[in-house]
Amino acid sequence: MDDQGEPEPPQTVPETGHRISLRERGPFLAPSCTCGWYGPARRSRPLARQEAAAHVAAAT
Ligand SMILES: [Zn+2]
Repeated sequence: MDDQGEPEPPQTVPETGHRISLRERGPFLAPSCTCGWYGPARRSRPLARQEAAAHVAAAT
């Protein structure tokens, strides 16, 4: 009986290396992460940073 399991693919999501950057779009700020995540544009810079921090906290 052959019992060959499929090899598990390597994880594509890095466990570390989340770097947030805020991009200004007119009066709005859109947070984006190096992992590919991006948040909605906010007028409030603290709010954009807060949501970005929440992403990092949730991803790690
Ligand atoms: Zn990220």
